[in-house]
Amino acid sequence: MASRKSIKREGGAKCEAAGCENEGSRSLSRKKVESSVEFSLDGEGKKVSLCKDHYRKFKKATKEERKLDSLGR
Ligand SMILES: [Zn+2]
Repeated sequence: MASRKSIKREGGAKCEAAGCENEGSRSLSRKKVESSVEFSLDGEGKKVSLCKDHYRKFKKATKEERKLDSLGR
């Protein structure tokens, strides 16, 4: 059996937003990101790397979600 080394390097991953070539700066749960943002994601796996730009979009999306939530009270 060949041993497969999984390469995990923090900060070395590329942003996985479709079409984005930036360097990833954050690693997030793919599920969470997928359900919150409008852009689509490349790759697969439980984690997804996002650049600062896309991370900001993700944060904004989740924030707005929460805002809407609290407005409904
Ligand atoms: Zn990006």
